[in-house]
Amino acid sequence: MPTLFEKIIAGDVPATVIFRDSRVVAFLDIRPAAPVHILIVPNKVIPTADDIADEDESLIGHMVIVARDLARQQGIAKNGYRLIINCNPHGGQEVYHLHLHLIGGRPLGPMVARA
Ligand code: 5GP
Repeated sequence: MPTLFEKIIAGDVPATVIFRDSRVVAFLDIRPAAPVHILIVPNKVIPTADDIADEDESLIGHMVIVARDLARQQGIAKNGYRLIINCNPHGGQEVYHLHLHLIGGRPLGPMVARA
């Protein structure tokens, strides 16, 4: 079964795509946590961060470079932002297709609630 993000990459599920190249798609998160909340998703099916292979090194680097450029385009680079990859249940991952969250546009507070 294709994941939700595979369907978005294929255009079978609508999304507000703001960037696309041969390796990644970036689109707006449907439930934004901040004024800017963009998901950068590889076209390659990689379920979780734990499934990243050594050969994916350049792809993962590309995702970060795309996030950097989108942050500049969105005007949030100077004030700052957060890049997040959630992995598996304890990481709070909901969609099992690797994605990088780019979140900003307001102060984001502490990185994670301390138990
Ligand atoms: P995760 O928790 O897996 O790191 O993040 C999944 C993200 O996907 C969440 O922030 C959630 O709001 C977003 N999301 C879930 N369903 C959809 C959808 O149908 N469209 C879009 N654009 N984002 C979605």
